Amino acid sequence: MRLRRPRWSGRLSLTQQVALLSLVPIVALGFILAHVLETQILTRTLADADQSAQLIARMGIQPRLSPRDLRQGLTPAGIRTLDEQLSNRQVSRDLARIKIWNQQHTVIYSDLHGLIGRTLAASDDLANTLAGRPNAAQLITPSAHNETAGEVGLGQLVEVYVPLRFAATGRPAGAFEIYLSYRPIAATVARDQRTIVLLVAIGLGLLWGVLYRIVARASRRLRGQARENYDLAHYDQLTGLPNRTLFIDGVTKAVDREESGPGAVAVLLIDLDRFTEINGTLGNANGDAVLREVARRLSGDLDNGTLAARLGGDEFAVLCPGTRGISGAQTVAAAVQASLEAPIVLDGVALDVEASIGIAVMGVHAGDPDLLLQRADAALAHARLRCSRVEVYTEECNRFDARRLMLLGEVRGALERGEFILVYQPQFDLPTRSVTGVEALVRWRHPEHGLLSPSDFIPLVEQTALIGPLTLNVIDQALCQMVAWRRRGIDLDMAVNLSARNLLDPALPGQVADLLARHGIAAARLTVEVTESAAMVDPDRAIAVLRALRASGVGVSIDDFGTGNASIGYLASLPANEIKIDRSFVTEILADARAEAIVRATIDLARNLGLTVVAEGIETEAVIEHLISLGCETGQGYLLSRPLAADRLTASLTASFGLAPAGPRAPATLST
Ligand code: C2E
Ligand code: MG
Ligand code: MG
Repeated sequence: MRLRRPRWSGRLSLTQQVALLSLVPIVALGFILAHVLETQILTRTLADADQSAQLIARMGIQPRLSPRDLRQGLTPAGIRTLDEQLSNRQVSRDLARIKIWNQQHTVIYSDLHGLIGRTLAASDDLANTLAGRPNAAQLITPSAHNETAGEVGLGQLVEVYVPLRFAATGRPAGAFEIYLSYRPIAATVARDQRTIVLLVAIGLGLLWGVLYRIVARASRRLRGQARENYDLAHYDQLTGLPNRTLFIDGVTKAVDREESGPGAVAVLLIDLDRFTEINGTLGNANGDAVLREVARRLSGDLDNGTLAARLGGDEFAVLCPGTRGISGAQTVAAAVQASLEAPIVLDGVALDVEASIGIAVMGVHAGDPDLLLQRADAALAHARLRCSRVEVYTEECNRFDARRLMLLGEVRGALERGEFILVYQPQFDLPTRSVTGVEALVRWRHPEHGLLSPSDFIPLVEQTALIGPLTLNVIDQALCQMVAWRRRGIDLDMAVNLSARNLLDPALPGQVADLLARHGIAAARLTVEVTESAAMVDPDRAIAVLRALRASGVGVSIDDFGTGNASIGYLASLPANEIKIDRSFVTEILADARAEAIVRATIDLARNLGLTVVAEGIETEAVIEHLISLGCETGQGYLLSRPLAADRLTASLTASFGLAPAGPRAPATLST
């Protein structure tokens, strides 16, 4: 299943929108500028035309006229002179028509000779000019209905009135009415306009281009930032997998689509076993490398339709949108286990990584995504506690999950009410079958749930600081029992179990010494059992605590030997005086050559390191014989005795076993 990042805009990108929107005012500005400049060009051109008309009138014609000509009219010779003057190329080039008026509104000269001598009604402009008032040049289109009737056919014209004066002051003697052809002027105007429009367009185009670049760059940066923020909020930075937020989003979408009907969407929650140990032993950098490799396998090895995510810590999730019910989800879970099967190699060390998986299926176990995840989580908790690797959600998981939480809340009260009790499993000297000591094993006599075994609550309590008081309570009870037995003439060694968290508590050795002193029991009669993995969570602190215990005389036994990941070198560095071979090897010793080899090697190792070796889980006589033949002479197991309540064990010791308890063992010590 592929998750697409969201698109960062609608149909048009931000840059495109800004580009289009900014184009509107820029084009409008272009039009306004072009219009203003066009008007200015026209005004300037008309002013130029006015000037050249005045030049023609004042320099070209007026010197050929006298006040008499205006009063009496021009002689034919005078008319010819003016005709010649006007035929001059310089003058005639722009001139379209000329009329010279006297104050009586009589045309005394015109290039259109038919007008000469005619007296016409004066236009406003002519009257103004004859009165000495200024008149601006203007652009006209001649019309048959007014005084320009004679100019029809000359096209657009620039009309200029110039007063005709012979003296510097007083009313003009007459007026020139001059029409210049607009065509050459229009050509100049058009050329200038073209140049201006081109320059304006280039300028605004450049402005728009710069603006576009700025916006495009800012928009690119914004998009980059948005993508980065999205990634930070939706992807796990260590593994690159989707995080919880995106996973929940994916589940919701898959449920909404429900392409293949109910039971199609399943969620697998995956938790790596012993990851805390890996982190503690190999360091955080290697822990990170493990998480990255697991992520790579989950996203690479599984079917393409699945979506893998890291929910946090060592918890991963897989969303399977196309599973057909529970069996389909179980197939995916098997694929997950298979993909984690190959050891992860870190700095040349092959590491086996195992995972617990909780499964919940939509439509079967839950009706909405939230509940689906909750159910998968309850199934995972169940799988972890039952060490069953894969659990599909059942009602029991939920009850169990709720019970787990309730149990945790009840531990403190249970300690005060004395609900934690001990049973004792004897350890035997195998050749003589004499009891050498006992291992104290805790039980919770719960008022509602009955007698709970350690696996029901120790893994829970271990995760909290309450394991401290619980352990001290167990040791206290065990020592009490030793005193009680001693009063009855039964002298036994005592072994108690410690949790990983106890080994991180530097106060523990002092507290144990206090308890021993209070009960008047020699430290050498007490042994603490620690598993390899517990000692590996924080090896330095664990070794310091164990050394202090050993220094005070308390025995240290490595419990469940052979099941952890500790190296022989590390185990040899532990200040222990005893090894307890795990029952999984002991029970299989006759059936499985590998188990037998491990037991044999462990016994050899213990002998060479000067440690006592104890076999646990002895269930048959044949196993006892074999252990003796291999050199292991101490053991415990259901065959010899199940763990028993103190009074029953007392009775057995004195009656059924009929054996006098052996004296104290002298603990062998590993150099510390
Ligand atoms: P462990 O220390 O390895 O204890 C031995 C476990 O093996 C006991 O289970 C015992 O009943 C069982 N066992 C003994 N002989 C046989 C046998 O022949 N066959 C089989 N199949 N099992 C046998 P139990 O009492 O359920 O304890 C389980 C684990 O709980 C212990 O394993 C120990 O790790 C932990 N535990 C027990 N009591 C305490 C305690 O007071 N504190 C802490 N921290 N852990 C405890
Ligand atoms: Mg034990
Ligand atoms: Mg054990």
